[in-house]
Amino acid sequence: MKNFHVVVIGGGVIGSAIAWELSKYKLNVSVFEKGTDVCSGTSKANSGVIHSGINSVPGSLKARFCVEGNKTMQSLSNQLGFSLKWTGKYVIAKNEDEIKILEKLKKTGEKNKVSGLEIYNGSKVKEPNINCVAGLWVPTAGIILPYEFTIALAENAAINDVNFFLETKVTGLKKKDNGFEIKTNNGIFRSDIVVNAAGLNCRNIVSMLEKPDFQVFPCRGEYLVLDKNYSNLISSMIYPVPDENLGVLGVHITPTIEGNILLGPSAEFIDDLDDKRTTKNMIKTLMCEAKKIIPKIPDEAVINAYSGIRCKITSPKEGGISDYKIKESMLNPGFISLVGIESPGLTATPAIAKEIVRMISKHVKLNAKNDFKTKKKHKRFNQLPTDKQEALIKKDRRWGRIVCRCEHIVEAEIIEALSNPLGARSLSAVKYRCRAGMGRCQGGFCTQHIVRIMEKEFKMDIKDMKLKSPNSNLFIRRNRELSK
Ligand SMILES: Cc1cc2nc3c(=O)[nH]c(=O)nc-3n(C[C@H](O)[C@H](O)[C@H](O)COP(=O)(O)OP(=O)(O)OC[C@H]3O[C@@H](n4cnc5c(N)ncnc54)[C@H](O)[C@@H]3O)c2cc1C
Repeated sequence: MKNFHVVVIGGGVIGSAIAWELSKYKLNVSVFEKGTDVCSGTSKANSGVIHSGINSVPGSLKARFCVEGNKTMQSLSNQLGFSLKWTGKYVIAKNEDEIKILEKLKKTGEKNKVSGLEIYNGSKVKEPNINCVAGLWVPTAGIILPYEFTIALAENAAINDVNFFLETKVTGLKKKDNGFEIKTNNGIFRSDIVVNAAGLNCRNIVSMLEKPDFQVFPCRGEYLVLDKNYSNLISSMIYPVPDENLGVLGVHITPTIEGNILLGPSAEFIDDLDDKRTTKNMIKTLMCEAKKIIPKIPDEAVINAYSGIRCKITSPKEGGISDYKIKESMLNPGFISLVGIESPGLTATPAIAKEIVRMISKHVKLNAKNDFKTKKKHKRFNQLPTDKQEALIKKDRRWGRIVCRCEHIVEAEIIEALSNPLGARSLSAVKYRCRAGMGRCQGGFCTQHIVRIMEKEFKMDIKDMKLKSPNSNLFIRRNRELSK
């Protein structure tokens, strides 16, 4: 049976950041992730916003971690090479009553020490396509690509010797005299400390050891993605005033790092933790809500839809927002759970990870490594100057072969993506590492070429090729085998 100092359950942004923080120390750490790659859950399906802290109750963990995370993000981006843009955001008032809500948000932000907040009247809001009577300007809000951030954390943890067990689902936990026994579909392991960073599944993990004192109420948020041709509709993020009853920020309009625009998310309580479908009704509702902010968004601008699920721990009946529950179990010391990590969880990640390491340090002595390495994500081929592109093509012709026509991604970039240190080899692992398949045709052209590269360069059997989840095989067998 393999023994670890720390096992982290869940390779979302939280689990990956904890792994990265722990990889700075001489510890034997593992992450168990049931998906085919890290960032398979909520961490890839959100707005990608680095919040400033104007929405979190002063004194709460959410406020503390959000503000701290926001302040750390720039140096993390410099260190790991993920993209970050400080676009700023407006929360807009559509009538006089809503101006009072802007004033309340400004006060909350100031209590949380968010700087630069100003309320402007409608004519001074520097967004020509927006309909509003006033806007609260929040200069310290920014955007990232959430999957790029998560992958950077996980891959850097992996090159610093954290073991990532993908397609490994934790199915049972037992307290033993000196640690925990962890049952998975890939065998039984042992660890001194177990960190439950399983997102929406946090309650199921707790119930493997003890009776949970909370419920999870999944709340789905659907989004629409607009084509890059419409990127000049806005230059900063535009939020309506928040919906306090539902405990959500409302349908907002967000630019992405890549030049698309997101409309969403909706807020719908659902029964099934895994029900990530997008619905015809919600597409209509989102468009209608977004048009209240920018009337001239054309319907044909939409190229895709997706959804993410909030891990709410207050029932729809209670409403409102609850704080994060980050605790070590009293019954089972060494078992740490992160519960209800909903928005601003992405922003709060760096601060939460540091807090977990502090909690772990009470059990294990932390000795810093002196050979800690950082692999910075490098620029995409199509962002390089021509002389650098030519030099790469001269060295290896695969830099000159375009595979994804929409996003101009070349064969060498697909190979780099598939050679990732986590060993993730699905089509979505390629998509989230180099953007092939994320353009207007959504993989219609490049999928066949990526499949060919997987077969030729990585000797993968077509029966093992997957779209994104452990059961999403792309092929059953070859056509020729059918006739046999
Ligand atoms: C619609 C929406 C919009 C949001 N927008 C923002 C935003 O703009 N800014 C912001 O700061 N935050 C935002 N958030 C919040 C943010 O996305 C989350 O707080 C964050 O992603 C939570 O990360 P996580 O690692 O806890 O969860 P997850 O990403 O869900 O990770 C949990 C992982 O655990 C794995 N897992 C579960 N069970 C098991 C098991 N038994 N064995 C092994 N693995 C398991 C899952 O596969 C998953 O990969 C938003 C959330 C939603 C839903």
